[in-house]
Amino acid sequence: MTGSAAAPCDTASGEGRGKAGPQPGEFQVTDVFSKQKRSEVMAAIRSKNTGPERAVRSMLHRLGLRFRIHDRSLPGTPDVVLAKHRTIVEVRGCYWHRHARCMLASDPLSHRRFWQAKFERNMARDKTNLRALRKMNWRTVVVWECELRKPGRLEKRLRKAFGLRDRGRAVRQDIGGGRPLRPGARLP
Ligand SMILES: [Zn+2]
Repeated sequence: MTGSAAAPCDTASGEGRGKAGPQPGEFQVTDVFSKQKRSEVMAAIRSKNTGPERAVRSMLHRLGLRFRIHDRSLPGTPDVVLAKHRTIVEVRGCYWHRHARCMLASDPLSHRRFWQAKFERNMARDKTNLRALRKMNWRTVVVWECELRKPGRLEKRLRKAFGLRDRGRAVRQDIGGGRPLRPGARLP
């Protein structure tokens, strides 16, 4: 597993996706929502403490891992910060963050160009944040919303990522799967 392990998606539909986004200047965005609705939509996009995020947090907690959340001092205000492991866990909604080949990342039915531009920005921001975190020597683990549909499998992946066999017990030192921890970082 690599530092930024994206899990294979169980809900692959096989349909062609990932078309290039609109080119600059290709169209003018006219907002389709009222001001009030727009602010609700944007709040939903940025929202923290979402259902999937809470579910992942309680899974990590059950595994005996301790963390802090929404650390504003780090790029992108990561959802979960496991300082001891020098690791960030980002929980992503499949739709807004465009999980590749995922059933939950369906294409919008209308205003497609508008939403495509929005999606492109989300993905660009995700990429920038992860890159910045890695530069700061943080390991990053991305968990997709759809992975919660198979919690057993997700738990297994997380145990592996943190070198855990039984609850909270570390079994090996090379938890990064090739990406070494910063010298001085210790396992529990
Ligand atoms: Zn997904």
